[in-house]
Amino acid sequence: MEILDGKLLSKKIKEEIKLEVDGFLANGERAPHLVAVLVGDDPASKFYVKSKMKSCKQVGFKSTNMVVDKSITQVELLNIIDGLNKNQGVDGYIVQLPLPAHLDVDTVLEAISPDKDVDGFHPVNMGRLILGLDTFIPATPLGILEILKRYNIPTEGKDVVIVGRSNIVGKPMSICLSQKGYPGNSTVTIVHSRTENIEDKLKQADIIIAAIGKPQFVKEHMVKEGAVVIDVGINRVEDSSKKSGYSLVGDVDFINVAPKCSYITPVPGGVGLMTVTALMINTLKSYKKRYGFE
Ligand code: NAP
Repeated sequence: MEILDGKLLSKKIKEEIKLEVDGFLANGERAPHLVAVLVGDDPASKFYVKSKMKSCKQVGFKSTNMVVDKSITQVELLNIIDGLNKNQGVDGYIVQLPLPAHLDVDTVLEAISPDKDVDGFHPVNMGRLILGLDTFIPATPLGILEILKRYNIPTEGKDVVIVGRSNIVGKPMSICLSQKGYPGNSTVTIVHSRTENIEDKLKQADIIIAAIGKPQFVKEHMVKEGAVVIDVGINRVEDSSKKSGYSLVGDVDFINVAPKCSYITPVPGGVGLMTVTALMINTLKSYKKRYGFE
């Protein structure tokens, strides 16, 4: 069994990005610029935005964290988005989700200009993904594709079972792995809360991608010998031995599943870090497209 080390891989990819950025700066270009719009003060969202800003610094990007009060109206938020769409100094931006309940997330995401939509959530970018056209692949699936690619994990002809059908992970992941090319050419099954016999389907899988938000849902008896297991889940469970009072666990029962796998991602230290790094990849891509560098 080999650990798919998201920490190591993130570091390597960020170093590669930094090298490219240094090259642009040496040629007198400006640095790529990512903006994160944070509505309110949800602690998890604050944590995620902070880690995105930290990664920007590591790769040499300019970053701006726009914090707005949770009482902001839909019209005010749409005005901010309009300003970011028009701002030539911004290469990409994200609106950190979830949004407060009074804001309509679909309207907000659709207002983001597709060419600055580095989260890849805009319907135009999702449509392009389905058609196999160049697009911004949402960060978590893109991070997983990088893991598969850089560890040379074969995907062609493999049976992939994705647990979870969210718009940000499960659905786009299924599209990516069923596309022609590498990583891809897989036979993909998506299972969800209404699926019958999930265990039987998981047992057939060469590659399992678990993204449901249920701590340690995937157990040893559901995984076939030699499977590749990618754990997207980030769940807080009570842990009195920790100062914080909780630990982070994935959607896979790592301790018991790992010995059966050929490869597995840990939590933390796996997909989470690669998701942030993938956002850096998308921001650099946007910058290069805007300036005709690719
Ligand atoms: P989500 O929007 O909550 O969707 C969960 C999916 O899991 C749904 O499709 C749901 O089915 C399915 N599901 C729930 N209970 C199930 C069950 N008992 N059996 C089978 N399927 C079940 O989730 P998400 O946003 O994709 O997030 C999933 C997990 O990944 C969470 O722990 C989240 O924190 C984590 N996450 C991590 C990263 C990262 O960077 N590592 C990024 C995003 C999310 P229905 O559609 O039928 O309801």
